[in-house]
Amino acid sequence: MTSPMALRKPEVLAPAGDDAALKAAVLAGADAVYFGLSGFNARARAKNFDEGALAATMAYLHEHGVRGYVALNTLVFDEELEAAEAAVRACAAAGADAVIVQDLGVARLVRTIAVDLPIHASTQMTCTDAGSIELARELGASRVILARELSLSDIAKIRAETTVELEVFVHGALCIAYSGQCLTSEAIGGRSANRGACAQACRLPYDVLVDGELRDGGDRAYLLSPEDLEASALVPALMELGVSSLKIEGRLKGPEYVAATTRLYKTAIDEALGARAEGREGGAVGKSGAGGNGGAVGNSGNSAAGRTVVRGSGPHEGASRVSALREAALQMYSRGSGPGFLAGVNHQRLVEGRACDHRGTLSGDCLGTVRTNGRTCLRVKLAAPIARGDGVLVEGGYAGEGELGGRVWSVFAGGRDVERADAGREVSLWLGPERSVEGAPSGRRVWKTDDPAREKAVLAEVTSHPHRVRVDVAVSGEFEAPARFEARAETGAFVVVECDAPTVRATNGAAVSEVLRDKLGRLGDTPFVLGEVSVALPPSAMIPPSALNRARRALVEKLLAASKVAHVAAPITYRDLLAEAVPPATPPPPAGLFVLCRTLEQANAAVDAGADGVYLDFLELTGTGHAVRTLRARGRVHITVAPPRIRKPGEEKIDKFLRELSPDAILVRSLGALRDGAGSGVARIGDFSLNVTNRLTAAEVLSRDLAAFTPSFDLDAVQLAKLLASPFGPWAEVVVHHPMPLFHMEHCAIAALLSTGKDHRDCGRPCDRHEVSLRDRAGMVHPVEADVGCRNTVFHAAAQSAAGIVAAAQKGGARRFRIELVREKAADVARIVDAYRRLLAGTLAAHEVFGALKTEAGYGVVRGSLRVLPS
Ligand code: SF4
Ligand code: SF4
Repeated sequence: MTSPMALRKPEVLAPAGDDAALKAAVLAGADAVYFGLSGFNARARAKNFDEGALAATMAYLHEHGVRGYVALNTLVFDEELEAAEAAVRACAAAGADAVIVQDLGVARLVRTIAVDLPIHASTQMTCTDAGSIELARELGASRVILARELSLSDIAKIRAETTVELEVFVHGALCIAYSGQCLTSEAIGGRSANRGACAQACRLPYDVLVDGELRDGGDRAYLLSPEDLEASALVPALMELGVSSLKIEGRLKGPEYVAATTRLYKTAIDEALGARAEGREGGAVGKSGAGGNGGAVGNSGNSAAGRTVVRGSGPHEGASRVSALREAALQMYSRGSGPGFLAGVNHQRLVEGRACDHRGTLSGDCLGTVRTNGRTCLRVKLAAPIARGDGVLVEGGYAGEGELGGRVWSVFAGGRDVERADAGREVSLWLGPERSVEGAPSGRRVWKTDDPAREKAVLAEVTSHPHRVRVDVAVSGEFEAPARFEARAETGAFVVVECDAPTVRATNGAAVSEVLRDKLGRLGDTPFVLGEVSVALPPSAMIPPSALNRARRALVEKLLAASKVAHVAAPITYRDLLAEAVPPATPPPPAGLFVLCRTLEQANAAVDAGADGVYLDFLELTGTGHAVRTLRARGRVHITVAPPRIRKPGEEKIDKFLRELSPDAILVRSLGALRDGAGSGVARIGDFSLNVTNRLTAAEVLSRDLAAFTPSFDLDAVQLAKLLASPFGPWAEVVVHHPMPLFHMEHCAIAALLSTGKDHRDCGRPCDRHEVSLRDRAGMVHPVEADVGCRNTVFHAAAQSAAGIVAAAQKGGARRFRIELVREKAADVARIVDAYRRLLAGTLAAHEVFGALKTEAGYGVVRGSLRVLPS
């Protein structure tokens, strides 16, 4: 029998939103910590770290043997490049172990200014296939943080095609939308998720409309609010795939959460290694089949009846410890949890829809209320222990209606007032004189939202047993000569100290190795702990104790000094890079007004109304082929085909199919397609999803065989006009009218709401028969449309118009404009195309376009993301 391959130990990467969280991560044994710099990271709401304190923060991390990655992962505008350059220089000088980058232009800036500062491609870059990862590598990234929508099976395929380090999220909040592709907050409130200012619209309640009729969804209101990720059970599988880093989400969370989650994943790794070494696999952190929900994978804490729970095979001590740590981590923060997309797509599982915020762990089922000891109490059948002082919550109905809870003042069990009661018991919980529990309905789940004793215990444990850097010391020498101390830290640091006094003969008979261990082990509050001490001294040697103490102090000083690093920064500036950023030498693509259509009816109407070309963005590939042939039969129609925005392993064949339809052009929507499709011979138009917000990025994407690019919807009217007035204007295609794509998601809300199927194989394809929309609290009805890959886009109810900047854009040099349709009928299409044709020809004013385009839905058009907000 061949022995199984050794597992590679990945790092545990903890989040830090402030100093307390950073220290908790270090104490808990994180291998690396990531944090943001004020201004340039995807968590603007976190306290973040300023550039001034960066060097001290990095020094602290390095002294403790922890790597520090700085998030510079926002899209950047031209006017911010100077500050971005300063941030890069600060990271280089402080010795950051990597910067996390979303913007392709910023990647270029980093690689040019600080050649040896590692770049990690942010999950905001939406890397979902080997092509996108290779593109990130070409930009200088040594690691890619994969999109959270990938399964173990997808990761395995990617792993087989690239040698770039892979980082995978294993814990924390999930976005319903692909990171880097959520435009909801930008469209609704000018708060860009790509700029760290997400307003969390996915956590709001929505009603469902099916074919225009309100559908009763029972208690499910939070239809876009996914459960949190908790993948400790998948750690062995991820290790097997050679994933380099297990990332914990949560830069807005406190130190208890950071400590608890870090300990959980460190322990899960150790347990996996131990299990492999002992040939004992499976169990609570057992091996899980790639792509399947195998092994121990399951949701946890979703039902008192145990709908899906973490399954264990036996009471092995390591597995029990992981289980306890998992409970502690989920107690700190959890909206309900499961393996997310790592276990594959399951549209019935990801969004339960009954809550959008912290639930904690499941305590049991509510049995109504009861009078106990003269007080009205909650009656609860416990599924987990509960104690006085815990926080509890009885879940409510639709959108939390009737939800109640509070802190437990008294626990009555078996007629006695007890400190704590165990799972399985029926108890009465009194929530104090100020909390009414009247009307608490029987049958609802009861959650433990807070467990102060557990919180204290987590921090106490990491404080009393902090992680320290192990140092092995070798001591050698002869009588009458100074001994030599060689210290090697587990971080790789190696230092040598020579004793300042000669070795003498012992007169007290004490064993030198014991004396050395005792004296060298006195590392007190240094970040180090003594590992092995090997001694090559004569048997009766003695080093004077005072000299030994001085040698130990010198070793510590040298080890601390060895942890200091800095990267070299080049004198080249962002201005030099901007000067080099020029459009391609080839002429710009033909001018015109193009219309992106989702049906053949729309495409015919657009051509009839005088559009210069159409884009075909259909749910069905076969429908696209039919549409191409039908439109070709009409005569000369410029046709651009549009593949899905996301490209997962194996989906390159969709691009191939579309190319074989011999279109005039193809829309390039993903970084994988941007890289892999270059040189295909078909004209390529880069879409908004490539996130071009500055000239460096425009130059980068155009250099990859694009005929034109679409500026990002993160630009407001002034910024867009400025970009169009640059030399890149003629190569830009401006979307002048479109319902903003708010959420673009792997989750199929249509299948979740209208079927019991977990994916396209068993959903019965309700998307073919029904129109599904989501109505928000303001009464706006947002269409939901699926694409070829079953990914859903929730579009804004109202179309957004850039009519107001068309004149300036034309003056600046823009010559290509695009209308994007969703569900518009032929008559609407004719009206919209006509209005913009006249606007472009100068025969209709912008305000007249706004007046003319009152759509059937009655919303009119809005300025949306183009609003210019006060800075
Ligand atoms: S899905 Fe969008 S709105 Fe929701 S948290 Fe993510 S970025 Fe924010
Ligand atoms: S076939 Fe339609 S309903 Fe089913 S998962 Fe795909 S998009 Fe959703």
